[in-house]
Amino acid sequence: MKNTKAHEESSCSVDLIKEKITNQENEEISRNDLPSDESSSQNDLLGKDSLSPSGFESFGFSKELLKTIEGKGYKEPSPIQKAAIPELMLGRDLVGQAQTGTGKTAAFALPLLERLKKENHNPQVLVLTPTRELAMQVAESFRAYGAGHSHFKVLAVYGGADFRSQINALKRGVDVIVGTPGRVMDHMRQKTLNTSGLSCLVLDEADEMLRMGFIDDVEWILSQLPTERQLVLFSATMPSEIRRLSKRYLNDPAEITIKSKAQDARLIKQRFIIIKNSYKLEALKRVLEAINDEGVIIFVRTKVITLTVAETLEASGYEVAVLNGDIPQNQRERTIERLRKGSINILVATDVAARGLDVERIGLVVNYDMPFDSEAYVHRIGRTGRAGRNGEAVLFVNPRERHFLGTLERTVGQPIEQMDIPNNASINENRINKLQKRLLEEAKKEREHDEETTLLKKLIKQAGEELNINPEQVALAAISLAIGSNPLLVKEDENWLKQCSQNHRREDRSSSRRRNDRNSNPPENNMERFRVGVGHRDRVKPGNLVGAIANETGLKGKMIGRIQIFDSYSLIDLPKGMPENIFQDLKRLKVMNRELQINRYK
Ligand code: AMP
Repeated sequence: MKNTKAHEESSCSVDLIKEKITNQENEEISRNDLPSDESSSQNDLLGKDSLSPSGFESFGFSKELLKTIEGKGYKEPSPIQKAAIPELMLGRDLVGQAQTGTGKTAAFALPLLERLKKENHNPQVLVLTPTRELAMQVAESFRAYGAGHSHFKVLAVYGGADFRSQINALKRGVDVIVGTPGRVMDHMRQKTLNTSGLSCLVLDEADEMLRMGFIDDVEWILSQLPTERQLVLFSATMPSEIRRLSKRYLNDPAEITIKSKAQDARLIKQRFIIIKNSYKLEALKRVLEAINDEGVIIFVRTKVITLTVAETLEASGYEVAVLNGDIPQNQRERTIERLRKGSINILVATDVAARGLDVERIGLVVNYDMPFDSEAYVHRIGRTGRAGRNGEAVLFVNPRERHFLGTLERTVGQPIEQMDIPNNASINENRINKLQKRLLEEAKKEREHDEETTLLKKLIKQAGEELNINPEQVALAAISLAIGSNPLLVKEDENWLKQCSQNHRREDRSSSRRRNDRNSNPPENNMERFRVGVGHRDRVKPGNLVGAIANETGLKGKMIGRIQIFDSYSLIDLPKGMPENIFQDLKRLKVMNRELQINRYK
């Protein structure tokens, strides 16, 4: 998908890296109610696995739809499709926890298309999405899946697009509307969208809508719909507000959870460092020093980089092995065995060479280069945290790649936190901790050979007497021997670290308006972030917002923090602890002729 227009509100899904469902084994289904015995036995008669009918025929789809699906090249329904389609074909409400890339669009679009009533000329299905990109994408999927259905019409409605042409299209008649909440509400208020025939509402990426402050809007839309309707809710994560929403509005829904590798990835502590390519090698050495770990895999993009990285680390005294496409299979196996046994600690690998690698003692994965797509990211970080162990992953992101972070976060369903390149102090702290641990472990051990112990004790005594030094001084000498020739503490010049982070802060600011607001800096400590329902489309300027809010609340203009204006809304940082009555007044306050509808932004 291409970003055709620089448009702030939309940037979060513009960068979606398309994920194909190629590995369905990665996913497990759990469902509160499985198919009845009757349907199972029927499937058995057909010679099919009772829980996972193969192909799409078993759903009872029309010939036209089956042909379209075949034309798309889909051979097997994905796990979410297997679980959701039979329920939706029956008209049941459904709540599904699934990420992008699981085939969830087809999971609802295919059965809803099949259930459309031909004689109805008003919209029958409404899909709400958090962003206009997703709206366009879902509408496109409907269009493609509905290619064999005669006269089928789908329309995407979202802010920033021409209102008039949307009204005209609505007048001509559409079956399915896919839209962002703001614009859908506008059409409902203006009565340009007739909701009387709506029989199904889908909330796609409900958690994203919550994060973007759309939940009140969604509830308003829900309150306007016919009471007899099917409700379908998909969400990558299930925060309590989404659970509340589904409890409140859904009627005995089928519950489906697609547990993907991406979700397992949540057990892994994931962080990123913004860094220019030219500083990566230095930063890598610092990360390895600061994150105390036994087994490490460093992922890079090309064979050449595997060698550069390995050579640099070897020069710094690390034992490193390389895994790339040039390494013959038998050597590859030997390398993995050495890593498993701990005779090497660090592996530098390309994605393809490390496919399927399963070594329990990997505690850290460094994504030295950005993965090609989010599937590769999930695979890479899945090399750690194995067999229930804790794992950590660090991702190097050069400033131009920053916009991919949102996609990765959406895939793994959790934020990836920013970290600084470790400075001397944190490296030294780690070195001391490591030394202490080694010392304590050694001191606790009982020496197996009494003879050796007697000899060593004699040695200590002799050294003390000969040099006239106390046992502490002898212990210090012994520890120095153990440390080796390198100094215990690093004192390297670290000015470049400061320069690095300053540069990135500057780049952050200049690019923040192009990026999704979720990725921007959080509000300062004493401030809280609010979302208001006016944006560029209302031609609002920061001054309008400051003026109106200052007037209403009595706050001095300078106490109003950062303001970010997007197409249909804006984010404003205000001092924490706003009294409830002022909050309520602000909700009704009009700026540029539109109610602020202020909400806390989570
Ligand atoms: P979604 O999770 O809806 O964003 O879908 C992700 C991708 O998977 C889209 O490119 C779909 O075209 C594709 N897809 C959906 N269902 C199937 C299937 N059963 N087999 C193969 N690809 C599919």
